[in-house]
Amino acid sequence: MLLPLLSNKSNKRIREALPDRKKINAFLFCIVLAYSYLDIRRATSSLEKAQINLAFCSLIRTLTSSKVLSLDNKKKNSGFPFVLFSLIRTFAGMNIEIDQGSGFCFGVTRAIGKAEEELSKEEQLYCLGDIVHNGKECDRLQQMGLVTINHEQLRDIRDAKVLLRAHGEPPSTYALARERHINLIDATCPVVLHLQERIKKEYEEKVKSEELRVKNKSNQSKDGTNSDSSLFTLHSSLDKQIVIFGKRGHAEVIGLVGQTEETAIVIESAEDAGKLDFNRDISLYSQTTMPLDEFRKIVDYVQQHISPEATFTYYDTICRQVANRMPNIRGFALKHDVVLFVCGKKSSNGRVLFNECKEANPRSYMIDTASEIDVRWLQGCESIGICGATSTPKWLMEECKVRIEELLGCHE
Ligand code: SF4
Repeated sequence: MLLPLLSNKSNKRIREALPDRKKINAFLFCIVLAYSYLDIRRATSSLEKAQINLAFCSLIRTLTSSKVLSLDNKKKNSGFPFVLFSLIRTFAGMNIEIDQGSGFCFGVTRAIGKAEEELSKEEQLYCLGDIVHNGKECDRLQQMGLVTINHEQLRDIRDAKVLLRAHGEPPSTYALARERHINLIDATCPVVLHLQERIKKEYEEKVKSEELRVKNKSNQSKDGTNSDSSLFTLHSSLDKQIVIFGKRGHAEVIGLVGQTEETAIVIESAEDAGKLDFNRDISLYSQTTMPLDEFRKIVDYVQQHISPEATFTYYDTICRQVANRMPNIRGFALKHDVVLFVCGKKSSNGRVLFNECKEANPRSYMIDTASEIDVRWLQGCESIGICGATSTPKWLMEECKVRIEELLGCHE
């Protein structure tokens, strides 16, 4: 705005009194750049930050090659503007963003909170299985006194305190704890607990209806009525299959199958659904961390194949703490040149979320710790996104950000 004024002849005196025009321009641009940089720092949402940063980087590129600032080839590596621009480039030119939607879900936060609370009272606390699928967080809690044990080791202890993690446990674990006088600190996620109760209720109803069927059949045999097999055939179709869409052997699935005295059928994909008996009733549930689109495929498949004599009911029991992260993480991955997905290798929802990242952005890398970051991944990028699973602690993502800054020399 000042430039037209300075070029006005009536302001000749003022112009003569002022320093050289290029210096003024450089000074004004420096103020604009510094202000823009502060704007980036102030921006709260990640989208806002990325947009300002992008505009800012283009501005710097234009200016550093502009005649207006006298940054021709000979002078490019010297002078105040170049130094300032280099500094700004170093700190603001690389956008490193931690996804605010990543990190512990409610269930994991609650379980870790319970462990910390108990450890503040006791020196040692047992935990049945890894409290979270993240080695670093497990190490941190181990240093506080948490001892991770498996089911075999549970049989060898008594009169102790044992924490049950968010995934939940089958009834047999509770029975064993009672036998061994073990005080359970139950940190099963309320969402998982509710799912266990639903499956248990469904199973109990199924058992009751089957008992009734057997009783009726034996009465009819005694009376000599309905001695043909038609009634039995009809009732057979009602012999319900309780089906769980989940990962075989996953702790949550073991807990769910346990509610049905190990009779539930576990399927891992729509392909697996082909093995079900479509002449019998089907009741479908899902492990809380499974992908929603695959669940819908299974529902479609069963609906197309179920016999008219049988019924099919399904319950979408996928936790929205995970499902909602899918579209969000996709958007986040698309926004950055490189994505670092921080996650323990055992995390089931981590693998699902990482696949989503990778599909949206092929330059996505899964890492367990900051030390796994390879500087070659970051070549030629201006924007790096750091995100993770529901089992990834925020502090670990922060560590990765610091590591990137070290690798890129921002902390020198
Ligand atoms: S993903 Fe959902 S159901 Fe699973 S522990 Fe977290 S909050 Fe609970």
